[in-house]
Amino acid sequence: MSHTRVPNIGAGTEGESEMTTTLTRPDFTAADRCDRCGAAAMVRAVLPSGSELLFCGHHARKHETRLRELSATLQGSS
Ligand SMILES: [Zn+2]
Repeated sequence: MSHTRVPNIGAGTEGESEMTTTLTRPDFTAADRCDRCGAAAMVRAVLPSGSELLFCGHHARKHETRLRELSATLQGSS
């Protein structure tokens, strides 16, 4: 196992300049559950640290004030 794979740098690095809006609608699947009660997730909260929390509509509302204090970005709320 001495073979090292050399990445082909500079050959096709596209997508880097693709600056789409940050308002993309997150796709929640059946696997995405509220961290608090296990209901289907409706809102994703992204913390400045990079960690994500998932909430159902009920708990998103309940924790919204606290999340904003933490400068979290809420996605998916309507
Ligand atoms: Zn919940």
